Amino acid sequence: MVCSHFPEDNSRQCALCFPEADYEIKPQVWRDKPIVEVFRDGKAWARPWDTHFRFGVVKAAMILYCIDIVQEFALTSSSGNVIPESRYLVDKRDLKSTIQLQTFPLFINSYQEIVEYPFIRLDRLSQNLSTADIGFGQHKAAALVILKNDLAHWAESLDGWFD
Ligand SMILES: [Zn+2]
Repeated sequence: MVCSHFPEDNSRQCALCFPEADYEIKPQVWRDKPIVEVFRDGKAWARPWDTHFRFGVVKAAMILYCIDIVQEFALTSSSGNVIPESRYLVDKRDLKSTIQLQTFPLFINSYQEIVEYPFIRLDRLSQNLSTADIGFGQHKAAALVILKNDLAHWAESLDGWFD
């Protein structure tokens, strides 16, 4: 199989065509709200990255809205130049909301440890909705791109998924 994302380099094994694990989403309920958890090879996403990788519909909508940039981030070999400045996407479904995207060369995981691994952060900046943010590294970015249709089906199956 040849990677279709880098046709000029047929030895490249990109993270989307050659995922490093099997990914799936599992719908769950947390504090009476629907969420999804992303599983990796049948298990919760564990150290060193984080304890779990799960989020609700607001963050799912943010991810899906920015999925092209998330894919660009997943496929780049160094994060430093994927988004050299913050990038902003105005959400066309709600013109009072903007999603800000930023990349970083490292992040702090939920154990308060510094992990030297490229990281992208999405922030919803809104005049009329609560702010929300989610961040993840390149493996999770690749998993989200691979799972984007499953994620969209899940989000669309819920009432009020955009709130
Ligand atoms: Zn590829």
